[in-house]
Amino acid sequence: MNSIRIYRGTNQIGGIVTEFLSEDHRILIDFGANLPGTKDAQIKDDELVEMVFGDKEHPRGADAVLVTHYHGDHVGLKDRIPEDVDMYIGDTAKEILKAIATRVDTMNKLNGNNVNPEVPLINRMKGYWKNGTPKDFSGIRVTPLLCDHSAIDAYMFLIEMNGRRILYTGDFREHGIPGTETFENTIKNNVGKIDILVTEGTMIFRTKEVKDSAVKDEDQLGKEAYKIFNAHKENVVLVSSTNLDSIMEFYHATPSDKAFLCDPYQAEIMKLAIEARNSYYPDKYSYKKTIYVLCKEEYDGCMKNLKDIINPNNGLQSFFMAKPEIYMEQGFVMLARPNRNPKLKVGEFEKRMQQMKDPFITYSLWEGYLEGGKAPDKAITDFVRGRDDESHMKKLHTSGHAYVETLAKLMDMTNPEVIIPMHTESAKAFKTIPQFAAHADKIHVLHDGEVFTLKTEVSR
Ligand SMILES: [Zn+2]
Repeated sequence: MNSIRIYRGTNQIGGIVTEFLSEDHRILIDFGANLPGTKDAQIKDDELVEMVFGDKEHPRGADAVLVTHYHGDHVGLKDRIPEDVDMYIGDTAKEILKAIATRVDTMNKLNGNNVNPEVPLINRMKGYWKNGTPKDFSGIRVTPLLCDHSAIDAYMFLIEMNGRRILYTGDFREHGIPGTETFENTIKNNVGKIDILVTEGTMIFRTKEVKDSAVKDEDQLGKEAYKIFNAHKENVVLVSSTNLDSIMEFYHATPSDKAFLCDPYQAEIMKLAIEARNSYYPDKYSYKKTIYVLCKEEYDGCMKNLKDIINPNNGLQSFFMAKPEIYMEQGFVMLARPNRNPKLKVGEFEKRMQQMKDPFITYSLWEGYLEGGKAPDKAITDFVRGRDDESHMKKLHTSGHAYVETLAKLMDMTNPEVIIPMHTESAKAFKTIPQFAAHADKIHVLHDGEVFTLKTEVSR
């Protein structure tokens, strides 16, 4: 049999796994954990693992697991993938996962948690072959296509099997730094007309959020950030440490008279991203001003991987250790994260905030995490408590996901026979979206676990 099967993700955002089966071979795309705050998950993570890989008596293998990007809702169950199954991910995405894993392993060790270390697992992952070129997995031809997302080094896949061309989008957008040009060129040159489109639909129900948002794309985000940073002396930015398009915008939007600050973990991730993307997007993925690193108790060891990096624009070191007596005087933009270490009563950044006179927060995370939002996150609500009013905080965030207009454009450009929505809270709504009207009769809504059979091509 030849088929597509979405084990989980036909009617929820995240926690997804999709299978492409060709006779007795199969590849899986992503192996994600349920997002925290996923209400009434239909399928629990443990159940999912068993459905996909079987149990001890009846184990099931796979030719490969292809990971689209490093977000937990796509790769969070990586430790449950059998050891003899090959895992693939982008080279830079792998480096970033390793930086995260190193930090997690250190924290677990410090806190005395007896859990398996994550770094060896990441080391097991293989990088993708050349972007835009196919590789054959026993009759399933896979072409990875680098795409725009809030995670850098994210991929879509063109899958050719059984005489059918299928585009699996993963999470994508066209309003990040790679932008419309990259999106349109990829679809035009590497994809073209397809038979089946399997697409994410995160933003289907979030149109109001997009309308209300102060910024629509990363470029606007940078411009608005510049105004905020100029108007305030002590700027604290709440942003995901791996949302690199936004981080690069904040970095470049830091006014020349203010210091740009982050901790060593964030600095390491910025370094990886700049090295990997400098040749693609040199305007944004480049060293501009000095990055000052907030080292705990001014411990020199935290600069170990950073101090030899030279900024080619001025021949000086790109990273220096931050000195509070200088930046507190001069004013700054500080990238921050809320405390998630249960052993710490007051987090590192919360402590720093206490020492500031009048910090202004630029909130650059999904607004659903805030008090009264769709999935309030305690670490975040604690961080902004008492400051979440207009005179102390501004929301400045662009979604990592395609807007309805982008999805419609993708449908027009690829003109598929069948459209299968996933990574969405309402697959059925696809049929009623006015922008999708020309394709409404092609929308095919699946249930989790349902098998979509690819009929054998009859010779014409
Ligand atoms: Zn996702």
